[in-house]
Amino acid sequence: MTTAPTTTSTAPPVAIPKTLVGQKALVTGANSGIGRAVAIALGEAGADVVVNYVVGDDAANEVVAAIRSHGVNAVACKADVSSEEQVAAMFREVVERFGTLDILVNNAGLQRDSAFQSMTLAQWNTVLGVNLTGQFLCAREAVREFMRRGVNPEVSCAAGKIICMSSVHQEIPWAGHANYASSKGGIKLLMESLAQEMAPHRIRVNAIAPGAIRTPINTGAWSTPEAYKSLMTLVPYGRIGEPEDIARAAVWLASDLSDYVVGTTLFVDGGMTLYPGFATGG
Ligand code: NAD
Repeated sequence: MTTAPTTTSTAPPVAIPKTLVGQKALVTGANSGIGRAVAIALGEAGADVVVNYVVGDDAANEVVAAIRSHGVNAVACKADVSSEEQVAAMFREVVERFGTLDILVNNAGLQRDSAFQSMTLAQWNTVLGVNLTGQFLCAREAVREFMRRGVNPEVSCAAGKIICMSSVHQEIPWAGHANYASSKGGIKLLMESLAQEMAPHRIRVNAIAPGAIRTPINTGAWSTPEAYKSLMTLVPYGRIGEPEDIARAAVWLASDLSDYVVGTTLFVDGGMTLYPGFATGG
């Protein structure tokens, strides 16, 4: 069964448990789509949240207000995650405002799609710069803060948690999107190498690989009935993913409920990586 495209969420209403009370979180690219939902859900779980964004002051302020409505603190912080200087300044501001950081959600990402033979170096570098180098720069700053502070058992049994927003395209090749798929494949081994290196410091690093989620990045894939029907041939579960589906996974990965989960990619994709083309025998 497929659900027709609507503007209302197809995800079931579920209350977020208060598993992050007293923790400080930073979500990159948090004024739109998945990052927005993750930032609000972390606030609902009890964390104070820094809403990073690069353009769109009004949208960032709206997310800050939504987080504060849960009775926690939130601030907006403008920074381009692909800039070493801006990332360093953002982390200085985070520590000044909140005292420390417990959770980083490396979410900011973009696409610059092109047939391979006409892909420009600028398209390649922009995608790798934001999607992969941006995750490196933010994770490096977060790790420095986590190692400086160490474990505070009253807050969490880990010294820090990093969640890398990857994609099913860390596994599924994607013609016409070689730069994007390369960035997500890079995130897989960045995350796993970092998880291995940081585990002895009680820093947990994991990733979420979303499937098709209803956000502005992929409007063309779901905004008409024809596009939605075609998309559903790739999704065994029969509905599009919603930003809330990813946000709930992020809350769990950030909390002590997942304390023994280290270096894992959690696919939240309605079965997209289950080779749906073989569902009828192949
Ligand atoms: P989106 O376009 O709604 O949000 C992307 C966010 O990243 C925006 O807030 C944007 O301003 C921000 N951003 C872009 N460049 C930035 C920069 N240089 N510095 C800081 N922020 C920057 O898209 P989304 O779907 O919410 O995507 C969020 C993440 O999820 C991305 O990493 C994307 O690759 C990943 N993802 C999305 C889907 C999906 O179906 N929507 C599927 C798999 C993975």
